[in-house]
Amino acid sequence: MKENIENEKEEEIQEEKKEEEKEEKEEKKEEEDEENKIEEKINGVPEEMRCYICNDFCEEPVQSLCCNEIFCKKHITKEIIKRFICPKCKKRCGLNNIIENKKLSENIKWFKKLLNDLLEEKKF
Ligand SMILES: [Zn+2]
Ligand SMILES: [Zn+2]
Repeated sequence: MKENIENEKEEEIQEEKKEEEKEEKEEKKEEEDEENKIEEKINGVPEEMRCYICNDFCEEPVQSLCCNEIFCKKHITKEIIKRFICPKCKKRCGLNNIIENKKLSENIKWFKKLLNDLLEEKKF
C-alpha cells in the first residue's frame, strides 16, 4: 500500500516535468516564429521593384509605356514576342513599347545589398 502511494507521487512529478518541458518548447517555437516573420517581411519584394510576371526583383528592369508596369527584360520580351499584348493592361504592344529603367535597376541593386547586410548582421 505504501509503495502504491509513492508510485503515484512519482508519476505526478513525472507529469509535472512533462508539462514544463512542453511549455518550454512552445516558448521556443514562438521565438522562432517571430524570427521567421521578420525574415519574411525583409525578404518580401517591394511592389516598386517587383516584376509583374515572376513576382521577384526585376532583373534588368524595363517599364511598359502603355501602363507603366515594370518587368524583367527577359520576361516581358518573351511575353511580347509570343502574344504581342501587354500582360498587365492587355493592350497590343511591341518591343518598342518597353523602355529600360536604369534608375530602378540601380535602386534594386542598392536595396538587395542592404538586405544582405541586414540579414548577415541579424540586427533589425
Ligand atoms: Zn520577371
Ligand atoms: Zn500595359
